[in-house]
Amino acid sequence: MAVEIPFRRDFEFEYGRLEPVASGIRRIVARNPGPFTFRGTGTYVVGEGKVAVIDPGPDLPEHIEALLMDLAGEEVTHILVTHTHRDHSPAAAAVKEATGAPTYGFGLHAGGKRGEPGVEEGGDWDFTPDIVVPDGGEIVGAGWRFEAVHTPGHTSNHLCFALPDQGILFSGDHVMGWSTSVIAPPDGNMAAYMASLDKLLHRRDAVYWPTHGPAITEPHEHVRAFIAHRREREEGVIDCLRAGVGSIDTMVERLYIGLNPNLKRAAGRSVLAHLVDLIERGIAACDEPPTTQASYRLAKR
Ligand SMILES: [Zn+2]
Repeated sequence: MAVEIPFRRDFEFEYGRLEPVASGIRRIVARNPGPFTFRGTGTYVVGEGKVAVIDPGPDLPEHIEALLMDLAGEEVTHILVTHTHRDHSPAAAAVKEATGAPTYGFGLHAGGKRGEPGVEEGGDWDFTPDIVVPDGGEIVGAGWRFEAVHTPGHTSNHLCFALPDQGILFSGDHVMGWSTSVIAPPDGNMAAYMASLDKLLHRRDAVYWPTHGPAITEPHEHVRAFIAHRREREEGVIDCLRAGVGSIDTMVERLYIGLNPNLKRAAGRSVLAHLVDLIERGIAACDEPPTTQASYRLAKR
């Protein structure tokens, strides 16, 4: 039985407009839709008068201008970044320059090499947080208090930001309603991702607001479905190895029926993430560095 993920894709918004989505929370969606961004990056504004901006978004002048224009008369006091992908962090520089607000994040981008195409929207090598926020770190502003939740997996520097007093979690790309997350080695790590999903099951946040797409109102149900989905995928990869299928391309053909061709590369990286994890656990083996082109087999036990 295939695991059913309760995807949420009903998403009402207007590009370029900062709109209230919940008490004390506004969102503006950037016009950067795509296979990894859904309708675009949702930049959140928390508070009123003195506000925090979460995930300023891509380096898209019309997005940055619209955000700043809609915040005229208010003061941006904090710029929070969930992780360093190019659809999340690059606009932090312009928002900081316009407002003087410091940036908050876990740390520098850590995956691959500068200039590499990467998967998804690619890494932002230029973002350096002014204030490095550890797991559990508190960020306090006018009328709101965030708790940072380090959730490595999608990237090693991924943070979710909770508003514990409101039961809200800004879940970045770690948990999204419209899609699963891309886990692409080397910076993406399946074991870390699974641990970060489990970490959310031990929290009591009532609603997640991901950076892409609509809110998730049954977060634990959703997280459990993602865990089950990845376990099922892992079983599929092990079945391929058992059947003597050692190439990631062939595994993707077998495991991802009806896949959007734009997502083939990302699917290959996801299978690679499973294989890296299976190698670390002594279940799979590979006689060369594990890449999407390498050949894999079951480990001898
Ligand atoms: Zn991302």
